[in-house]
Amino acid sequence: MTMGGNLIVYNGTALTMNKHSEIIRDAVIEIRNGRIQSIHSEPGFVPTRSKFDSPITVNARGGLILPGLVNCHTHVSMSLLRGIAEDLPLEKWLGDVIFPLEKKWVSPDFVYDGAILSCLEMIQTGTTLFNDMYYFEEHVAKAVQASGLRAICGHTVIEREGTNATTAMLNELDTFLEKVSAYDRVVPSVAPHAIYDVSLETFKALQDYASRNKIPIHMHLSEKQNEVDACLKIHGVTPVGYLDKLDFWKARVIVAHAVCLTNDDIEILGRNHVKISHNPESNFKLGTKIAPVVPLQKKGAIVGLGTDGPASNNNLDLLQEAGFAAKIQSFREGPGVLTAEAVVRMLTIDGARVLGFDDRLGSLEAGKLADLIVVDIQNAHSQPLYNPYAHLVYSATGADVRHTIVGGNILMEDFVVRRLDEASILSNALRWGERIAPGKNFSPRAKARRPE
Ligand SMILES: [Zn+2]
Repeated sequence: MTMGGNLIVYNGTALTMNKHSEIIRDAVIEIRNGRIQSIHSEPGFVPTRSKFDSPITVNARGGLILPGLVNCHTHVSMSLLRGIAEDLPLEKWLGDVIFPLEKKWVSPDFVYDGAILSCLEMIQTGTTLFNDMYYFEEHVAKAVQASGLRAICGHTVIEREGTNATTAMLNELDTFLEKVSAYDRVVPSVAPHAIYDVSLETFKALQDYASRNKIPIHMHLSEKQNEVDACLKIHGVTPVGYLDKLDFWKARVIVAHAVCLTNDDIEILGRNHVKISHNPESNFKLGTKIAPVVPLQKKGAIVGLGTDGPASNNNLDLLQEAGFAAKIQSFREGPGVLTAEAVVRMLTIDGARVLGFDDRLGSLEAGKLADLIVVDIQNAHSQPLYNPYAHLVYSATGADVRHTIVGGNILMEDFVVRRLDEASILSNALRWGERIAPGKNFSPRAKARRPE
C-alpha cells in the first residue's frame, strides 16, 4: 500500500483542475508507484500490456475523471450520532444534546467505528482527503490507515471551568504524535476547539508547539454571533482580532466556518491568506449565517469546502455540499459571481491548498499523487451534459461516484468498495444505534450494496 499501485485509467473526460483548467477528452492516465506518470488524450485507446506494461486498467466508461475531493472540516466519528438531535439551534444542539451524549458514549471503540463508517461513506461519495478533529483521534487515524484514504487528524484541546494544564496537554500531544507516526497517509494536527473554550495562554502554547513540530492547527472560528459578541464583551475585540494580536494568523492555521465576520476580520484573514473551510450545510442547519466566501477570496483568503460532522449535515457528500454552497453564494452575491468551475476548484485544488497538500495532489498532473475519482454520467440526471463543472455542482451527487482511487490503489471500482468490509461496518453501526437509542432505530438489517 505504501508504494501505491500501477494502473491505467482510460475512457473518460478528465477535468485536470490544473492552472489552465485543462479538460482532456478520451483521457489516458498512466499511474506508476502511486503517482500520475502521464496524462494525455487518445481516442479509441485500448489498453495492452505491451504498450504500457501495466497489469491493471480502470475503464472510466465515459465518465468525468477528476481529482479526489477534499473535505476541509469534519468530525467523522460523529456519524454514530447522525440524526439523533434535530431541529435545534447550535447552542442547544451542542450543549443540551451532543456534549452529554459524547460524555456518555465516546470511547476509542466509538471513535474507530464511527470513523470507519464515515471512511466507507467518503469512499462511496468521492472524498479522498479529509481534515478531522475529535477525541481519541489516534483511533480516527487508525481507521484512515485501514480504509486507504488520507487525512489530517486533529487532537482536540478543550479547557473547561478555567482548567489549564499546559504541561500535561503538551505531553498528551507528544503521545498522540508518537501514536500516529506509523501511519503514512495521516498528518497530525493540534485542534484547539474554539476561542470560547481555550485560553489565550493555551493558544500561545499550541501555536508554539505546532510550529516546533511543523504541523497544522485546526480550529472553529466565528461560527455564531454570540461567540463573537461574548469575545467583544470580554476582550473588546472579535475572535479574529483577538488572535491577530498573537500573530496567530501567520501560523499554519485551518479555520472552520468564519461565518460571523466584520469587514476588518475579512481584511485580516485575507491579508494573511488564512485557510478556511466553508461548511454551509451545517451553518444553515444550525441556524447561523451565510459565510462571506467571495469577499474572503477577493481579499486573499483560501477557501475550501467541508461538511462539518455528519451529525450536523447529515452526510459527508461533498458534491451535495458544493451545490448548496454555490446556490447560497448566488443568493448572497448574485448569480455567476462564484462560478461552478470555481466551486469545483474549492472541492479539489483549493481544498488541497487549504490543507497544505497542493504540491502533492488536488489536480491531475504528471508527478502528483494518483488520488482521483470517476463520476458516472450514464443516468437520466446527467444527460445531456453541456458543462461538466455545472453538472458536478448542480446535478451530480456522491451516489454518482463510480471509482475512487488513492495513491493508485483502487478503493472502489464500479460502485463496489474494496478493502473495507461494507456489510460488517454497516451491521456494527446498527449495533451502536441500538445501544445509543434502544428501540428507536429504523435501520434495516445491514446488507452490502450489490455490484452493478
Ligand atoms: Zn466542526
